[in-house]
Amino acid sequence: MSAAPAASRTPYEFFDAAVVRTRRLSPSIVRVVLGDPSLARVVSEGRDQRFKLFLPRPGQNAPVLPESLGADWYARWRALDPGVRGVMRTYTIRDTRSDPPELDVDFALHGDLGPASAWARRARPGDRVAVLAPVRRGNGGVDFRLPPGADAVLLTGDETALPAVAGILAALPEGIPVRALLEVAHPDDRLPLPTKADADVQWFVRPRAAPSPLPAALASTPLHGRTPYAWLAGEATAVRAQRRHLVRDRALPRQAVTFTGYWRRGTTEDQLLARAARPAERTEPEAARSPAPAATAKA
Ligand SMILES: Cc1cc2nc3c(=O)[nH]c(=O)nc-3n(C[C@H](O)[C@H](O)[C@H](O)COP(=O)(O)OP(=O)(O)OC[C@H]3O[C@@H](n4cnc5c(N)ncnc54)[C@H](O)[C@@H]3O)c2cc1C
Repeated sequence: MSAAPAASRTPYEFFDAAVVRTRRLSPSIVRVVLGDPSLARVVSEGRDQRFKLFLPRPGQNAPVLPESLGADWYARWRALDPGVRGVMRTYTIRDTRSDPPELDVDFALHGDLGPASAWARRARPGDRVAVLAPVRRGNGGVDFRLPPGADAVLLTGDETALPAVAGILAALPEGIPVRALLEVAHPDDRLPLPTKADADVQWFVRPRAAPSPLPAALASTPLHGRTPYAWLAGEATAVRAQRRHLVRDRALPRQAVTFTGYWRRGTTEDQLLARAARPAERTEPEAARSPAPAATAKA
């Protein structure tokens, strides 16, 4: 890929990057640090800032992408042989640094069933990837938006949502009451979550292969505040149940609940994308959402 245009009006651009180092943060979570001088142009808005990661398939040393990465990149990527084209997955920018330019991604490991989890388990310095990452603020890839007048925050999520929860907690104003219900696979996955907010973090360790404990935990948890704002992410079925409970049983206005299925049990992200492309199934989890395929350019 060539150098980026000097002044881009597109909110997301493609970057080549390589693994700089990895660190096992806990039994289920590995941090992969990506680096490349071009990553200096990435502009993360923090919180739950999403991006697309492209991974090589076994036997490839870099992800195969279309030759032209203009506004029609998504159609061109889909037109490539599905067995050859780079694996595309959605992740959260956990952190960025400028000197040297680096981008952190925290992967929740779930074995070798998924290509992204399998790749992250084995990632080594020098492994090549591509990222479709934001290059300006207002890029449309942040869902957590505290409404004016919200006097308390509810966060729920599993280990895939921990990077986003960490980013949201780090960004919240001093003293705002927050209740976070967080689900992990192992007691040592309960990572520190620094914040200036007045946060009450409750952890739930999920027994192996058990369904999410979060819908039941939420049902027995009082809400803070008179006008709370809720942000929910994690396994899609569990997220939907929590959202329904908040809107139907707790009478939260729909616009006070932001919810995102980060993955769906028994379904790959490729299958979710294919379903999202079918108009009748537009309610699928948000794998296909921003960065909008048409709104990107080649870096
Ligand atoms: C906006 C957004 C932000 C995200 N941010 C992060 C992030 O920062 N860190 C992170 O780890 N994930 C994150 N995810 C979730 C991640 O994209 C999915 O877990 C993805 O499916 C992983 O790809 P894979 O190739 O490993 O598995 P896939 O090939 O997509 O799926 C293979 C199988 O594994 C199952 N599966 C997928 N994920 C899990 C899981 N976590 N636990 C158990 N089974 C699973 C699927 O149901 C399927 O049966 C995010 C998702 C979205 C939409």
